[in-house]
Amino acid sequence: MTAIEQLRTTFSRGVTRSMDWRYSQLEGIERFLTEQTDVLSAALKADLGKSSAEAWTTEIGFTLKDVQYTRKHLRKWLKPRKVSTPLVARPGRSKITLEPLGVVLIFGAWNYPLQLSLSPLIAALAAGNCALLKPSEVSPATSKVLADVLPGYLDSNAVEVLEGDADVATELLKQRFDHIFYTGGSTVGKIVMRAAAEHLTPVTLELGGKSPVLVSRYCDIKTTARRIAWGKWLNAGQTCIAPDYVLVDASVKEQLVAELLNAIQSFYGDEPQRSKDYGRIVNDRHFNRLLGLLDEHDVINHKDYDRRERFMAPMLVDDPPAHSALMQEEIFGPLLPICAVDNLDRAIAKIQHASKPLACYAFTRDKSEQQRIEQHISCGTLCFNDTLVFMLNPELPFGGVGNSGMGRYHGEYGVHTFSHQKPVMTRRFILDVALRYPPFNKQKLSW
Ligand code: NAD
Repeated sequence: MTAIEQLRTTFSRGVTRSMDWRYSQLEGIERFLTEQTDVLSAALKADLGKSSAEAWTTEIGFTLKDVQYTRKHLRKWLKPRKVSTPLVARPGRSKITLEPLGVVLIFGAWNYPLQLSLSPLIAALAAGNCALLKPSEVSPATSKVLADVLPGYLDSNAVEVLEGDADVATELLKQRFDHIFYTGGSTVGKIVMRAAAEHLTPVTLELGGKSPVLVSRYCDIKTTARRIAWGKWLNAGQTCIAPDYVLVDASVKEQLVAELLNAIQSFYGDEPQRSKDYGRIVNDRHFNRLLGLLDEHDVINHKDYDRRERFMAPMLVDDPPAHSALMQEEIFGPLLPICAVDNLDRAIAKIQHASKPLACYAFTRDKSEQQRIEQHISCGTLCFNDTLVFMLNPELPFGGVGNSGMGRYHGEYGVHTFSHQKPVMTRRFILDVALRYPPFNKQKLSW
């Protein structure tokens, strides 16, 4: 029996529907994270040079909070929701129940290889599904721990972790699944969606894009710079919601640049290469891609990188031309273009002209500016006066819009993504009004 057939058999037996089973899987993931913390931390260090502090806050601890939060609220989320029933269908009752979809396929991405594999898995199992997880081959150490160690904590008849590259992904996509959850770039996202269409399989696509940062003159520049620097250079800029470029009011550009340089110095010291808190570029292909993006642009600090270590320092790029690759493609690395704009309307127009981003950040305390931004910019998530922190709120759905993706997860939204919201209406046999039955006549149709 193939792995997928095994998962299908398990699902059809109904074991994954019980609350006990769901809780035991969530407990398994919790134990995996607590018992394997050191192993996971070492794998994340090997893949991306993540410090143990960063590995904990953005991956292991983050996912632990996710699974604990899910355990705490799952019963409430799964309660059928009663809704009212119109007069014509009374006596009767109506409710909406959450039904597991079946066997789901999850593709993880490499930049947060633990979190982006386990968060969707937590939601899928909490919703009562069987799952096949394929972590990204670009982060091989974490992928190996997930494949070798995680299954020992879970029901191996219901969860399969399969390592592999694009060829394995291509083979998987030929099979029929009940949902496909993909995290990664839009090129592969389109491949996934095309393949899914063959089986009419619904998809969630967690993609990327160029997430802009607007900086108005009405903000605290020092705090703004520190918050941008934190969100940008975490994981050496390899974060799907990292600030991609900054549009700053020309009158405060110089001050912002000075404070960004201060922030870099205070976070990573004079030599970021020696900082234990600064990560590495995942592989040579991405390192070369980033060097290509840097090209001949003016770097405000200085060009600082070391190919042997795949180290690339935080770099500020001064006003690159709009048509340059740096301003057209998602950067996904430690280069930060700083572009001066004359006013907020110009900045909004620039963002509207580009594809809808996964996140948009705006630093302003001016309420009318906040309102204009909220009304005129469409993006996955909008965050005022900070970066990334919205990820810490499981009450907020996470996902893109337009080119940055479709569908959402985190907390209850994840459980909904992996469930069919099944309406159930129950009638009684009394009061069988004859008006609706043929043969019709004028009298019947006049009610
Ligand atoms: P990746 O290389 O890790 O690929 C993702 C998955 O697609 C992997 O499992 C991989 O094996 C599979 N894959 C690769 N080529 C394939 C093919 N030809 N056919 C089928 N499957 C294939 O991911 P990536 O694209 O390098 O990731 C970076 C992108 O992901 C960025 O754009 C980033 O913004 C985005 N991202 C989005 C989120 C989010 O939550 N929205 C999170 C992280 C990354």
